[in-house]
Formats: sequence, C-alpha cells, structure tokens
Amino acid sequence: MDSCGCSISEDTINGGGKSKGQGLSGACPTNGVIGKKVDTQTVKAILALPLNLLTSDAYRFCADPDCSTVYYSEDGQQLFDEADLRERVYQKHADDKEISICYCFRHTVGNIGSEIAESGKSTVVAEITAGIKAGQCACDIRNPQGDCCLGNVRALVKDLSN
Ligand SMILES: [Zn+2]
Repeated sequence: MDSCGCSISEDTINGGGKSKGQGLSGACPTNGVIGKKVDTQTVKAILALPLNLLTSDAYRFCADPDCSTVYYSEDGQQLFDEADLRERVYQKHADDKEISICYCFRHTVGNIGSEIAESGKSTVVAEITAGIKAGQCACDIRNPQGDCCLGNVRALVKDLSN
C-alpha cells in the first residue's frame, strides 16, 4: 500500500478551495477561505508544540499565502501559524528560493530554478517519481500540506521552463 497516496494524489492545493466561505464550516477563521482537510497525523508531525495542546481531532490547512494561519481546527477554535511548526510552508513563501517544495527529498524552489537555468530542463519530477516508486517518500508526515508535492513541483517546473 502507498500510505501517503503519492501515486494517485497529484493535484495542487493552490488549485482549489479559493471560494470565500466566511463563517462556513471548514473556513479558515483568519481569512474565511475553505481549507483542505489534513490528516491529524500530519498536524502532529509538523507541529513543534507539545501535542497535548491539541483539542480537536479534525484539522484543515490554509494554503493562502496572504494568511498567517497554517492549520486550524474544524470548529475554528484552534489556530496554528508558522511559528508553531517545525517546517516553513511552501504555499506561504512560494517566491522564496530557500523554501522547500519537496519535503521528502529536500528540493527547494531555488535548486529547481538553478537546474533549469543551467541545463534548460529539470530532472526533479523524475527523481521524485522514482523515490515514490521506491517507497522512500513520507508526504503525510513531512509535507505541511499532508500529501504529495508532485503537483506543486510540476507546476513550478512548467512555470520556470516557459
Ligand atoms: Zn487562512
């Protein structure tokens, strides 16, 4: 079994959930945008805080770069921003060359950009795909978005190759 769902889930977080949902269930209390559900295991893995602080068993991820909140409980009572986390979040700093885009194999936006600038192409998608096939990825506990980075990486490579 592919426990992180890498081979099937390649959609980018940025693609969906942009509709405003102020006050709706599932909306980020900070900006009112509906966030994607994340496994509690992801929140536990990424949080730098003592886990006995967790008050909910259902959390969502806010991918909006302009919103300081990263995780929030389904009931809106609990918020975590980047200062509470062990990782900086790609979606919040997509323009930062130092930011990780692939948390399993440690590729950064800058590394991928340099490779494309030097060689005109990128081997990163093939490398990540090989790592997934070899069972070496752990997106559910390493990537703050809680699932595979490949959609984000593909989008970045396409963007930088144009
Ligand atoms: Zn938010």
